[in-house]
Amino acid sequence: MALSEWASDYVNLVLAVGRHDGNFVDAYYGPKAWKQVADAGAPRPLAELRAETGRILEGVAVSEPLPDETLRKDYLLGQLGAVDAHLARLEGHRFSFDDEAEALYQVRPTVTIEATFEAALGRLDHLLEGPGSVQERYQGMRERILVPTLRVDEVFQAAIAEARDRTRKHAVLPESDHFRVEYVTGKAWSAYNWYQGGGHSVIQVNLDLPIAIDRALDLAAHEGYPGHHVYNALLEQRFAQAPPTGKGWLEFTVYPLFSPQSLIAEGTANFGIEVAFPGEERLAFERDVLFPLAGLDPADAQCWARVQAELKLLAFADNEAARGYLDGHLDRARAEAFLVKYSLRTEAQAAQRLRFIDTYRSYVINYNLGEQLVRTWVEAQGGTLDDPARRWTLFLELISSPRLPRGLGL
Ligand SMILES: [Zn+2]
Repeated sequence: MALSEWASDYVNLVLAVGRHDGNFVDAYYGPKAWKQVADAGAPRPLAELRAETGRILEGVAVSEPLPDETLRKDYLLGQLGAVDAHLARLEGHRFSFDDEAEALYQVRPTVTIEATFEAALGRLDHLLEGPGSVQERYQGMRERILVPTLRVDEVFQAAIAEARDRTRKHAVLPESDHFRVEYVTGKAWSAYNWYQGGGHSVIQVNLDLPIAIDRALDLAAHEGYPGHHVYNALLEQRFAQAPPTGKGWLEFTVYPLFSPQSLIAEGTANFGIEVAFPGEERLAFERDVLFPLAGLDPADAQCWARVQAELKLLAFADNEAARGYLDGHLDRARAEAFLVKYSLRTEAQAAQRLRFIDTYRSYVINYNLGEQLVRTWVEAQGGTLDDPARRWTLFLELISSPRLPRGLGL
């Protein structure tokens, strides 16, 4: 069988697995009839789906890819391996945090020792002046740069417009390129991009907790330009669409969340923020445009930017909290306390992150480790801060290719 036929089987398999887990199918815009078949009747038994996964895996493994299909074959093998691991989880198998991350995302997470976090906290201790603990001073400053709810949309739209303009200078987006923002509450995440196909996304922003000004650009770039929205749009255009625009590779019409593709998706979405806003450009835009729009004091922008740089390192505290909690070494209260201490979250934010970890488990590595791996891959080939054009080229190459973490060669 040709790879294309196995690809169709893979899509139908992912849709069938989605019947067992509402979070699994992140996006689907392939043939409607396939979805109708998957949704009809009772869900197919897990054992049957595992056997089906094994059959497709074997088929793909022995298939002869066409000259332009080498990465396509690797992609299908990687994605199918993750489907198998996810099915094992649904059958009740409990992976350790590290084993699960490796089985789903092709990366064994590094361990960050507490001394590393302590060192970052020490630097923050110097940056943040005034009385009280580092946590209290950080939260005190954060209080000052919260976007008033009534201004959230205006600030967010301004951030999106700028991120889109910058991205369009480098990427050829579909003519139908469009995304809509919705504001929601009661979610485990702070924002989510739902790709609809046809160059359209719905981006939902969770208003459960107050939004700090830096989140505006983070979300606009991460969820939108050049992050998830652009990643999905380019994959659709370049691969899923019928020739001559694309290749008619239907496996790209479905996106299973718990798969190696997510490490590339989250890693590029995070790294994309500084591709679009390199060096001091981010600070300048936030200070001169977003702070005034939100009615905040631009004098706080510079210090807050330095603080954010340290927080990038502290983001790895999520992995340690998740590993300890999921492997049973930290109970819920201690895991939340760990996040308050090392990622400087409020108790409410830490509780929200634990709810995220309950649902998405080792997925947390995709944000911080994903970003680190993507940066390493781009910079190793010359896409460094002092060569923004090369950086854009490599970044766009990565988000419009079937390359999975194993294919980064790191
Ligand atoms: Zn994301």
